[in-house]
Amino acid sequence: MELNEIKGVGPKTLNLLNKLEINTINDLVEYYPYRYEVIKRTSLEEERVIIDGIIESIPQVSFFNKKMNRLMFNFNTGDNLCKVVIFNRMFLKANLKPNTIITVIGKYDKDKNTIIASDIRFGQLPEKPKYEPIYHTINGISSRELNKLVLSALETDFSYNEYIPTYLKDKYKFLPKRESIINIHKPNNSNNLKNSINTLKYEELFLYMFKMNILKLNNKNNLGLKRNITFKTLEEVIDKLPFTLTKDQYSSISEIYDDLTSEKRMNRLLQGDVGSGKTIVAFLTMIINYFSGYQSALMVPTEILAHQHYNSFIKLFDSYNINTEILTGKTSAKDKKDIYRRLKSGEIDIIIGTHALITENVEYKNLGLVITDEQHRFGVNQRSNLRNKGALADVLYMSATPIPRTYALTIYGDMDISNIKTMPSGRKEVITYLKKESEIKEVLTLMYQELKLNHQVYVIAPLIEDSDKIDLTNVNKLEEQMNKAFGKLYTIGVLHGKMKQQEKDEVMNKFKNNDIQILISTTVIEVGIDVPNATTMIIFDAYRFGLSQLHQLRGRVGRNNLQSYCVLISNYEKERLDVLLETTDGFKISEEDFKLRGSGDLFGVRQSGDMIFKIANLKNDYKMLLVAKDDSYECILNKGYLENDYLTKLVNQICNLD
Ligand code: ADP
Ligand code: MG
Repeated sequence: MELNEIKGVGPKTLNLLNKLEINTINDLVEYYPYRYEVIKRTSLEEERVIIDGIIESIPQVSFFNKKMNRLMFNFNTGDNLCKVVIFNRMFLKANLKPNTIITVIGKYDKDKNTIIASDIRFGQLPEKPKYEPIYHTINGISSRELNKLVLSALETDFSYNEYIPTYLKDKYKFLPKRESIINIHKPNNSNNLKNSINTLKYEELFLYMFKMNILKLNNKNNLGLKRNITFKTLEEVIDKLPFTLTKDQYSSISEIYDDLTSEKRMNRLLQGDVGSGKTIVAFLTMIINYFSGYQSALMVPTEILAHQHYNSFIKLFDSYNINTEILTGKTSAKDKKDIYRRLKSGEIDIIIGTHALITENVEYKNLGLVITDEQHRFGVNQRSNLRNKGALADVLYMSATPIPRTYALTIYGDMDISNIKTMPSGRKEVITYLKKESEIKEVLTLMYQELKLNHQVYVIAPLIEDSDKIDLTNVNKLEEQMNKAFGKLYTIGVLHGKMKQQEKDEVMNKFKNNDIQILISTTVIEVGIDVPNATTMIIFDAYRFGLSQLHQLRGRVGRNNLQSYCVLISNYEKERLDVLLETTDGFKISEEDFKLRGSGDLFGVRQSGDMIFKIANLKNDYKMLLVAKDDSYECILNKGYLENDYLTKLVNQICNLD
């Protein structure tokens, strides 16, 4: 059965659901609430009043401020007589007749003996407390509407994968998955709800650690390619670079050199803050591999980044005549076919691309090295898929999103880690300001000062277009405003995720060449973009973003020896945002994020990466993660997974036995 066959899902709703990444009935039933509203009778003294009673007067309507209206009536709760006021619900009047029993939710104003209601529901409260699921949602569909759709979906014969082996389910007295899913959307009592949440959380964590453990065991004693290139050859390449490597870049590439020239298969994570210069280390790794006669693949999460890496690689290593190609989802069918052919024949030495690199059609002649940039954005399956294209390929993961050490050890326990802690010399710390919207003039002054120096500016907004429901700065509005302020003197460009790839590339190239001085964008530019002449980053509605995400955005400037600036514009959450004014240390910032939001956006916005759990939270459920880690390890050793088809399939996939 398809999603659009669910009761209540028309084309418009379908579109909204798709935006929430709900594309199938299974996605819908596994779209879990993030919290619950406990509906039970309170006294009037509570912060939030929920109380039922009888209407005792005909509601009076009054108007104010042109568009606003106010509905007021007398209300008898059994213990109290008071008034109820609700705004802009005039349409309820016909149904709010005297003697009707209703439930009012809101706030009580003692002086006026009035409840300011946020919601009115018909009928009395249930005897037992009721749990109302609350979902993350978007404009156009409320949490309650979403719940209704989920409930219809639950009526169907929905499918799901059940990963917890029976013996573990018995051990922890978990509920069957079907029941857990139903409970979580339609809770009947708090015990069952708790158990259902735990069941689903455990399953997620178990599955994640299971995959990780399989990868780890699969790697163990894994022999790789032993290259025989000398360190001197590598140093000659390094000497020709337009800059001197930092100490940490040098030690990282040395460690990688050791891996590549040893018998062991490399499985290494290269961590370094934004702007620390990981890319060149990746490039040099590919050079070692190239000189040893093997093909390399570099996988990145976005098209823009693929183009950037491709162009800078060609520029840096032009003189070596390396056959380098780029492959993304947007590559034309004809070009793709040609690239596939040349990869298979071995004509291509280095391929840079998005996850188009791991589609089934891609075959390599002798893939010796696989690198993934911004690795947290990829899922375990995607990563192992790419590696499996080369039976002995060495693997390097790169990440700018540092994870607190304890978590890293748990999650990446199977990897060696190289760290780049020092920034390239001559870098000045980015000066960061926090401004209120009312201080926009100062922001424009700063922009003008930098533009006059022939530097470039990024301007970030959380939305693309105007929305009638949320009042946030959007790209279109900013374009208008920036045009008014700077349009006569400077060229302004716009970049967002809804644009065609070709348009995006065009804008990005113009910005790189300084044909555009002000780039207005959503966070699509967050990952990896490198335009050293850009010195100023302005972020509107900064409170909408996680600290690590803001840090990533800030990392787009300060990429050469010019003084750079970052301005956070926000009327809210000063305390949280102040962390960014106090430090530029990505590790500290991610710890702070971690404290504030659990795994939060530590692992990026919702992407395909496995790190983004639907229900578990890395921090709050850390104990459970450790248990799941041990359980999954044991399950693999005892071959307990054989009783579960889904797990068995997974093992075959990851170990490439399929
Ligand atoms: P990230 O680690 O965030 O991926 P990049 O690899 O994009 O950082 O490097 C940031 C910028 O610093 C690039 O413009 C790069 O050319 C430059 N860079 C890298 N290493 C050095 C160095 N040792 N000295 C000077 N500039 C460097
Ligand atoms: Mg990078």
